[in-house]
Order: sequence, then C-alpha cells, then structure tokens
Amino acid sequence: MDCIHACPSDALSMPDSGKVKAIGKVWLEQDACLNTDGIFCDTCVMYCPSDVQAIKMKDNFPSLDEEACVGCGLCVYYCEATPKALHWYPPEKVVSSPA
Ligand code: SF4
Ligand code: SF4
Repeated sequence: MDCIHACPSDALSMPDSGKVKAIGKVWLEQDACLNTDGIFCDTCVMYCPSDVQAIKMKDNFPSLDEEACVGCGLCVYYCEATPKALHWYPPEKVVSSPA
C-alpha cells in the first residue's frame, strides 16, 4: 500500500497476514461514467493501489471487485466524471446494492 511507503513517521505497517482490513467500499454508478458517453477514461484503474487492483478495465468499462476493494477512496477522489461515478460508503453499510 502506497500510504505505508509514504508515511514519514512509520506509523503504518502491513499486517502479518498481508491483507489490509477494508475501511469502506465503493460502488460504481456506470451511467455516470465517462465511458458511457464514449469518452475513454481509466483514471480510477490507474489510481487503485497496485497491491489491491480492485478495479480493472473490462470491455471498455471499469469493473469493480468489491471483495478486493479496501475502501481507500483514491478512485473516488480522482474520478473524472462530474458528478462522480464512484461513491464511497462505510463498511457497516456494505450491502449488495447500496442506496
Ligand atoms: S476504494 Fe477504489 S482505489 Fe481504493 S481499493 Fe477500492 S477500488 Fe481501489
Ligand atoms: S475515473 Fe470515473 S469516469 Fe473515469 S473510468 Fe473511472 S468511474 Fe469512469
């Protein structure tokens, strides 16, 4: 995880299990994604941490692996769409179809 490498005071460390506990999840509103309008975009894929790779391009659309997502929110922050096509929600609200 990039935050572990970037932290200047070594306050963060990787769990021995090698797995990071999710601090949230995201959901993708495909209709709001720029690719729906034929504008190619893969910015969210580029920002998803390489250790996680929870979002990948599939058939010219971002495809989200909810299980792998750790909820860092980078894809939401950098989403190019206005309004954003990715939405963060806290782990206690993890359901199959968040409102
Ligand atoms: S919140 Fe977005 S960037 Fe972070 S792990 Fe989940 S899909 Fe990847
Ligand atoms: S960054 Fe936003 S607009 Fe771009 S592909 Fe990802 S969800 Fe779609």
